[in-house]
Amino acid sequence: RTKPSFDLEKGFQIERNVWFTDKDENQALSLRYTGEVLFDETNPFQRVRVLDSYSHGKFLAINNMVMCTERDEFHYHEMISHPIMQAHGNAKNILVIGGGDGGTIRELFKYNQVEKVTMVEIDESVIRASKEHLPNIASEFGNSKLNLIIGDGIQFVKEAAANSYDVIIVDGSDPVGPAQGLFTAEFYNNCKNALKEGGMIITQGESPMFHEGTFVELNQCLKGIFGKSQVHTMLFHATTYPSGMWSLQMGVKGNTHPAKDFNKDKARQFSNDKSLKYYNEDLHAAAFALPTFVRKMLGEN
Ligand code: SAM
Repeated sequence: RTKPSFDLEKGFQIERNVWFTDKDENQALSLRYTGEVLFDETNPFQRVRVLDSYSHGKFLAINNMVMCTERDEFHYHEMISHPIMQAHGNAKNILVIGGGDGGTIRELFKYNQVEKVTMVEIDESVIRASKEHLPNIASEFGNSKLNLIIGDGIQFVKEAAANSYDVIIVDGSDPVGPAQGLFTAEFYNNCKNALKEGGMIITQGESPMFHEGTFVELNQCLKGIFGKSQVHTMLFHATTYPSGMWSLQMGVKGNTHPAKDFNKDKARQFSNDKSLKYYNEDLHAAAFALPTFVRKMLGEN
């Protein structure tokens, strides 16, 4: 994809060799972008930017981390939404923590049975930036079934009534700044309490390759709360998350096995009807199959 090097208003001022680098301690992911900054605001929580890359379209960055790109956001948003929704089978009342770009609620509102989605996002600027510059991702903020709360998800679940939600989706950032508390036992204990019996939670679990410590600690934390056999790890491919191998971890308050106890025909029908681009009925089960080195990390071999 080629961008025009000439801008009518600015003339030949667009820098063509600018890279956005999402750095970990010893490794990094870089996207070349046009040099144009579409959105850039810093608030007490974080710095929020929207930039325009050559290879992945516009992308949302929080601090120096890529949150989603127009080209590959469907990998993450479909996988954080559909396996848990299909495994639950009839989720009507859902809580989303974070998710300010809107991709997760866009996927959830594809289910007719959903009655209410409460979304608690700490930073309104993420929503504003996404509505303005990523309208295909932020397409469902006007949905009448959405209860949008600008606030801290950690505090919200502390005060949530017990046995309220069928599904909780933690669509939070990496464990720095306001998202640090999304990786604690206290937070997941409160989430479990807020889940109905038979309810399920899914959380983004970082990369086993780049963030082994966080990945393993989160898994142990969830196992301590939901029970060893009630925590299930999924892997999926994410081009623009560091290492390309990303994880989601699911906790079940009940006896359902999300990889086995789902209706394959319904999942196939749903992914066809909704023209999904990543999730399908075969991928559902396959995503729970872990490479041997990951099993070993988690003590599951
Ligand atoms: N999937 C992305 C990733 O892993 O790169 C993250 C998506 S981004 C939409 C995560 C969102 O979580 C951000 O908008 C951020 O403001 C929000 N967030 C972080 N900490 C939060 C908290 N304590 N309560 C509610 N939202 C929070």
